[in-house]
Amino acid sequence: MTDGDWDLLVIGGGITGAGVLLEASRRGLKALLVEQRDFAWGTSSRSSKLVHGGLRYLAEGRLRLTRESVREREALLRDAPGLVEPQGFAFADYGASRRKRRSFLAGLAIYDFLAGRRERHWVDAGGFAMLAPNIEQAGLQGGIRYMDAKTDDARLVLRVLDEAREHGAQARNYVAVDSLLRSDGRVIGARLRDARTGSIHEVRAPLVVNATGAWAGALAGQGSAPRLRPLRGSHLVLPAWRLPLAQAVSLMHPEDGRPVFAFPWEGATLVGTTDVDHADDLAGEARVTRAEFDYLLNALRAQFPQLHLEDADVLATYAGVRPVLDSGSHGAPSKETREHLVWDEPGLVGVTGGKLTTFRAIALDVLAHVARQMPAWRPDLSPQPVFAPGFLPRGPRGVPAALLLRLAGRHGRHAQDLVDGAQEGELEFVPGTLTPWAELRWAARAEDVHRLEDLLLRRTRLGILLRAGGAEHLERIRAICQPELGWSDAHWEAEQAAYLALWRSHYGLP
Ligand SMILES: Cc1cc2nc3c(=O)[nH]c(=O)nc-3n(C[C@H](O)[C@H](O)[C@H](O)COP(=O)(O)OP(=O)(O)OC[C@H]3O[C@@H](n4cnc5c(N)ncnc54)[C@H](O)[C@@H]3O)c2cc1C
Repeated sequence: MTDGDWDLLVIGGGITGAGVLLEASRRGLKALLVEQRDFAWGTSSRSSKLVHGGLRYLAEGRLRLTRESVREREALLRDAPGLVEPQGFAFADYGASRRKRRSFLAGLAIYDFLAGRRERHWVDAGGFAMLAPNIEQAGLQGGIRYMDAKTDDARLVLRVLDEAREHGAQARNYVAVDSLLRSDGRVIGARLRDARTGSIHEVRAPLVVNATGAWAGALAGQGSAPRLRPLRGSHLVLPAWRLPLAQAVSLMHPEDGRPVFAFPWEGATLVGTTDVDHADDLAGEARVTRAEFDYLLNALRAQFPQLHLEDADVLATYAGVRPVLDSGSHGAPSKETREHLVWDEPGLVGVTGGKLTTFRAIALDVLAHVARQMPAWRPDLSPQPVFAPGFLPRGPRGVPAALLLRLAGRHGRHAQDLVDGAQEGELEFVPGTLTPWAELRWAARAEDVHRLEDLLLRRTRLGILLRAGGAEHLERIRAICQPELGWSDAHWEAEQAAYLALWRSHYGLP
């Protein structure tokens, strides 16, 4: 890795770093990415998993950001079927003023105009109950239905990294940058530490991109990173049978009027999110607090009173930290801008903030800054298809077409090998999820899994979809994955104990 004659070193294996790696390597740069933990370990596996145009930005009058987000959402829907999917949203109306209703519909009209199709509809109370069964009926006037999209955020990062590798890039997990190397005031590379062996290496590159998200200011030797205000957002996951939804439901929280949503995701129901200052040490993982847990559950109890939802209905929780620029206003977290920021110093381009949805646009913005420091490189920075066109894998008779599409979306050029490698019964789903057992085998075989948590929290999402992190299935998971990983019994058992302890402390009920 360090012997390579790199044009570009990207630090951070979240969606931003992955996007920069892909867009740079498809334009001819020889690029290396390093991630201190696992790919997507940071915010990019802990988002709300929506690929959205950002209605909120529209309400704030930020048309440019909405236009860009809608364009990127449409590109992802077109180029990543099976990974990014349309998601209908339903917003119940309990007698809002006519003015409010009209302004919401006007906002949606702009949203539709930007996407080039009409998706918004007013639905009367009877129709709305079909879209969102169990919703509070008292005072329900009807509601508004509109479209956005959803994804599996960690798989999106992995797919982007894989596409970058196809263009000759390299990406390594569990390799941290300890500090930047400088010469005559210019960044000329970085000091890397292998997080598993502790060995130290130096790598040189004419240009370094700092894409470390919420950690942007923590990198030693990093001079000019902006001041960030880390804001935590937490989520709950419930079994679909306890909170069955035909659509995403978005609602205003009865306590403070903030938007909260619940939507069907991977066979379960995902609920989010909060927006609070995150004062914990960024070296550890974020976790939901009791107050956030109650806040989200209270929103569900108010919107779905007859379901009598309780703590024990929650399968898992997770929290992420938004890398939000600090305006210094100390105002409400939701008032801080969600736009990304790019900064330069000689030999380095830094980037932080933004959204999962707009990763391609952010990457192109970063590369415009990179190009200014590399006069010999004159790239065409117009957007290209997110992924090269893919093919549906062929499966044995009886395998549902939706499963093949899912595998094509998540695994791209490897989907056929994944299907071919599946053993008897492994194209069936892990109960209660949409994950076939074969995805576990493939991840263990070919996807840089070094820890059991990589396999269960990011290559697959079983850790946040199953009660107790999937403890009841660990025996079968072990039978499939231990031989693929080449781990001894002692190694597996130590990993299993570490995973279950992590799950209890950070993904269970607070
Ligand atoms: C609660 C929440 C909900 C969200 N929901 C949505 C949504 O629905 N839709 C949407 O579009 N966006 C959403 N976002 C925003 C989106 O998730 C983030 O903007 C995006 O994931 C940030 O990606 P990133 O790559 O910049 O950061 P990260 O994903 O955090 O990646 C940075 C990486 O850098 C690594 N790193 C740090 N220091 C070093 C070092 N020294 N050496 C090597 N590696 C290092 C970290 O380990 C980390 O993996 C949400 C964010 C949050 C917090």
